[in-house]
Amino acid sequence: MHRYDERMEMASRDVVSKAIQQEINSGRGIKQNDYVYLDLTKLDRAVIEGKLPQVRQIALDFAGVDCCERPIPVKPTAHYSMGGIPTDKTTKVLDRQGKPIRGLYAAGECTCLSIHGANRVGGNSMLETLVFGKIAGKEMATYNFGVSPVMMAEEQVKETVIWLSNLKKKNGPEKLFAIRGELVTLMDKKAGVFRDQRGLYGARDKIKELRHRSENIGLTDHGDIFNTELIEAIELRNMLDVAEAVVHSALARKESRGAHNRTDYPSKSRDGLNHTLVYREGGQLQIDQKNVVVKNIQPK
Ligand SMILES: Cc1cc2nc3c(=O)[nH]c(=O)nc-3n(C[C@H](O)[C@H](O)[C@H](O)COP(=O)(O)OP(=O)(O)OC[C@H]3O[C@@H](n4cnc5c(N)ncnc54)[C@H](O)[C@@H]3O)c2cc1C
Repeated sequence: MHRYDERMEMASRDVVSKAIQQEINSGRGIKQNDYVYLDLTKLDRAVIEGKLPQVRQIALDFAGVDCCERPIPVKPTAHYSMGGIPTDKTTKVLDRQGKPIRGLYAAGECTCLSIHGANRVGGNSMLETLVFGKIAGKEMATYNFGVSPVMMAEEQVKETVIWLSNLKKKNGPEKLFAIRGELVTLMDKKAGVFRDQRGLYGARDKIKELRHRSENIGLTDHGDIFNTELIEAIELRNMLDVAEAVVHSALARKESRGAHNRTDYPSKSRDGLNHTLVYREGGQLQIDQKNVVVKNIQPK
């Protein structure tokens, strides 16, 4: 790790992820596998058990490794969504023109509050969930007081009910879990730590194919009660939507910044800081930009 950053494993997450992925891509993963070792054995058992009990337990549960005795196999993976539903600082959801949508609030990881930039700092989800969760609660309580509810668009409700009822009956030859698995592998490989135009175009086409195949899945549970398979099927559509948005915005952002690393555009753009906004209109994804407003500390 010292070849990449003198802070070694204490460097920021984008630096560590890139370093690990670069080692793996260069064939220097452990025994040519797609992982490297995180070695904690130089720490005393008392330190690990006292200060890192959760890390030890995760390694035991998922890799069967006691990190007091052996190094833990690790590799980069997606563990947080940077970006999401645009909201203002009072957690009101914003429309395409940047105006609050009446009665609609969002808080937590699903939002883009513009607090993280291109690389969320470790621990800052707490800010999003606790601080803005509290603000959302207060705002909603105030808003709802004496206000009549906004009615949902009847057409959309009808469409969703029909879609769900058709989904539940699906009896096709495609396997839900196979498509989910293929999507995860695809995003890991083509839209993961390193991206380039060729890979992203390939991912875009493959997502289209997976979406098409997802129309022909077969469910084994067609019931209404505790149907977890149906939930997985609903999630698959959401996963395809998010994957498509990630790939389209990664294609549009022709620079490298924070956790977004385009090997074909390795430098930061000088066009100023902006958010990528993705909308679906008439079945097509539309890309827009919004300037980032920096008030106090200018980024380096
Ligand atoms: C391995 C890992 C380690 C992490 N470590 C840290 C860390 O050290 N520090 C840090 O700050 N952050 C960390 N994070 C990120 C942080 O945990 C998350 O960003 C945060 O928990 C998100 O909270 P949330 O309430 O916004 O969303 P979630 O915790 O995802 O909660 C959303 C909830 O909504 C429910 N839901 C979804 N759809 C529906 C629906 N249609 N109807 C009803 N309910 C629904 C879900 O079941 C879920 O319970 C870590 C994440 C991971 C995966």
